[in-house]
Amino acid sequence: MSDSRKEKTGIPSGNDVRDVSFVPEPARQVSVAGRYDVIVAGGGPAGVCAALAAAERGSSVLLLEAEGCLGGILTSGLMSNVIDAKNKGGLLKSILAELDAMGMASGHHACVDPEAVKIVLENRVRTAGIHVRLRTRVAGAKVSPDRSIEAVFTESCSGREAWIGKVFIDATGNGDLGALAGCAYELGDPDGRIQAASLCALIYGVGAGAIPDLLKVENDDGKHRLYELLEQADRRPSYSKPTLFSLNENGFLLMSNHQYRVYPDDAGSLTAAVLQARAEIWEQIAALRRTDPRLATLRIGTTAPALGLREGRRIFARYRLVLDDLLEGRSQPDPVCRGTFSIDVHGMLPGNSGYTSAGFKVRPYDIPLRALIARDAANLLLAGRCICGDVYAHASYRVVGNAAPVGEAAGICAALAVRQGLPPAEVSYADFLQAGGNPQSQV
Ligand SMILES: Cc1cc2nc3c(=O)[nH]c(=O)nc-3n(C[C@H](O)[C@H](O)[C@H](O)COP(=O)(O)OP(=O)(O)OC[C@H]3O[C@@H](n4cnc5c(N)ncnc54)[C@H](O)[C@@H]3O)c2cc1C
Repeated sequence: MSDSRKEKTGIPSGNDVRDVSFVPEPARQVSVAGRYDVIVAGGGPAGVCAALAAAERGSSVLLLEAEGCLGGILTSGLMSNVIDAKNKGGLLKSILAELDAMGMASGHHACVDPEAVKIVLENRVRTAGIHVRLRTRVAGAKVSPDRSIEAVFTESCSGREAWIGKVFIDATGNGDLGALAGCAYELGDPDGRIQAASLCALIYGVGAGAIPDLLKVENDDGKHRLYELLEQADRRPSYSKPTLFSLNENGFLLMSNHQYRVYPDDAGSLTAAVLQARAEIWEQIAALRRTDPRLATLRIGTTAPALGLREGRRIFARYRLVLDDLLEGRSQPDPVCRGTFSIDVHGMLPGNSGYTSAGFKVRPYDIPLRALIARDAANLLLAGRCICGDVYAHASYRVVGNAAPVGEAAGICAALAVRQGLPPAEVSYADFLQAGGNPQSQV
């Protein structure tokens, strides 16, 4: 672990007002709020697809989401530019097709409308009979001596509640459930350094047709106009490739900042990052308004309710995807989808404000079912960003076009495990395929 990480998480000593390091919390009985076949923690693209896939195969499903809507990065993160989806089938394809039919998918980067994503996902989970709880955070897990999760504990305005399940899926992006259940995990690179986080924003008030040069990261002359404008206004952005993604004729998503050393298990660093990023976005918009007459009417619709974390815990599973798998385009005996996106490592330290592929070229590679089956808890599946892989593999597979099919695969496997009364590791790949497992999303 790096010194910087130690600094961030060190427990202050000596100056505590009561001069104690710990306050014992009285033991209490927590009421059981429900019993389900499958409990999914996290309602981002991975979690929603996991819940839908399990429910469609007959499982009773509870979906627990910490924020006030489903969709994760697509909605509360306000970054709905779906990457690596072209070769995918299954639920992701049908959700994108539905958004397209509503006229809610557009733009040069294939962005989907965040508000439309919310309603489409809500309708789908309602129709599937999934019990959803919003603003309900998974905050604990009861694990049996044989390392099965028996229940999760949540915190919400209803207080602390317990939910009993047969199979659990960690789709929190950050691997919260795996960590709470005592599973080993990796975070960041081997030195504990972690990619920058970004707070995104919804921007409006200017027609897309008036600013084509600002919608490109690189113009024909190789120049990045948005960056240049900000620099001209003495507001050099903390992210060197500030990007406006077109949502519609006059609405954009802005990704223009980097926040360093923000850890998913450190609320202090998360808070500081949000405050710093929001201030930077306001300064940037003010600077753009005064620097380019075309932008005089530019406004912030809203900054994202949730800070976008590129990295979270990667929970150890039965297979660990590594850089060589991607460089060699390795096939697996149990593929659930095929990743094609490049390795996209955003800066880890202040001053490293860009992103890099670190010189690596990815060949289409399989993501195996084993990378979703937790090693240290018998009835836990992983979905989305928190599946098992090294820092470089994660920098490719983490995008929505992979997170959603991986979630769907976890849901199918969970439903089969429930139906067959087996741990997920013992569900056969042949059964997974027969139940509609979707490796046809390979190119
Ligand atoms: C700034 C930024 C830009 C990105 N740009 C792109 C892009 O352009 N295209 C792309 O395809 N991908 C992009 N990504 C990657 C994107 O984050 C992932 O593809 C996506 O988040 C993976 O989906 P997920 O469901 O695993 O995680 P998330 O989308 O993070 O969803 C996790 C969900 O779990 C919830 N949750 C977390 N903890 C708990 C808990 N303890 N209890 C209950 N709920 C919990 C969260 O609120 C969230 O809704 C970007 C990421 C960031 C941060």
